[in-house]
Amino acid sequence: MSNKLLEFTKKLKSKFFFDHNIGKYTWFRTGGNAKIFAIVENSTELEIILNEINNDNFFILGSGSNLLVRDNGYNGTILKLGKGFNSINIKDNRLEVGASILDINLSNFALKNNIEGLEFYSGIPGSIGGAVKMNAGCFGSETKDVISCIEIYNNFSEKKIIKKNDIKLSYRSSNIKNNQIITKVIFELNYGKNSHIKDKIDNIKKQRILSQPIKNKTSGSTFKNPDNLYAAKLIEEAGCKGISYGDAFVSDQHANFLINRGKATATDIENLGNLIIEKVYSKFNIKLDWEVKIIGD
Ligand SMILES: Cc1cc2nc3c(=O)[nH]c(=O)nc-3n(C[C@H](O)[C@H](O)[C@H](O)COP(=O)(O)OP(=O)(O)OC[C@H]3O[C@@H](n4cnc5c(N)ncnc54)[C@H](O)[C@@H]3O)c2cc1C
Repeated sequence: MSNKLLEFTKKLKSKFFFDHNIGKYTWFRTGGNAKIFAIVENSTELEIILNEINNDNFFILGSGSNLLVRDNGYNGTILKLGKGFNSINIKDNRLEVGASILDINLSNFALKNNIEGLEFYSGIPGSIGGAVKMNAGCFGSETKDVISCIEIYNNFSEKKIIKKNDIKLSYRSSNIKNNQIITKVIFELNYGKNSHIKDKIDNIKKQRILSQPIKNKTSGSTFKNPDNLYAAKLIEEAGCKGISYGDAFVSDQHANFLINRGKATATDIENLGNLIIEKVYSKFNIKLDWEVKIIGD
């Protein structure tokens, strides 16, 4: 970090932490430290910070529900969007949502305002920025079905509005690069019947409790489903359900969920994942692809 930014940190409302543990912000609750961690107050300060930090060496953290930070940490700056990115507004027949809004809060807002189509967000524990980057979805709906455009900053602090079709959303992926920061997401507005919206949300909640170990330290589905196949089924049939590596184990409820039983290191989790990849490959000749993002050294 430049001396200028060090000076800035004293004047900004954004909060800066040095050699700060990042693993604790992830759902796995394990992993190392970031050289610099900043909770960015608002867009004005985001611009200042982006102008000062090393262009390539930063990463944007959402709510850490799809992220594994390696034990030796991240040798750069991790940014997290703070208060100024946490609003939801209905404007000119559009729904404008700050990128740090949690998916569940958007779904609750939609329920209160009779907006339909966003019920599936009640089943995903991330932020809206993370939902766009990952094209998150469940129970037959995904982010690409409901957004119209996004506001994004690049590493040179330039702001752009990008239309949905230009971010190439596909199964659990987009073409948004690690040095692009989504700050706002615009949704199409469709109104529906409150009781109908509520029933859908209740159903999603029930199904999740039955099928997923959601109260554990996990990042949800670890691997993407290969075309026309289920990763969980392949993992189970390769004999991996219930196996462990250190304190990391494969959920016996949902074989595509890896769980930190308490003291798992990020290395335990990554090694367990790699072991699964090997076993599935040797049984089916299919190479599983990580859905969980892994960063650090
Ligand atoms: C119990 C559990 C259940 C889950 N179920 C589902 C499910 O049903 N469907 C599903 O799709 N996912 C599911 N997930 C995975 C996860 O919740 C989603 O991928 C979610 O969208 C990640 O959002 P996040 O804010 O937590 O992102 P993070 O985990 O913090 O980051 C994920 C990626 O998004 C990027 N990112 C985050 N915010 C921004 C931003 N503002 N701008 C640019 N990039 C950003 C990060 O840089 C990183 O590359 C589940 C996870 C858990 C723990």
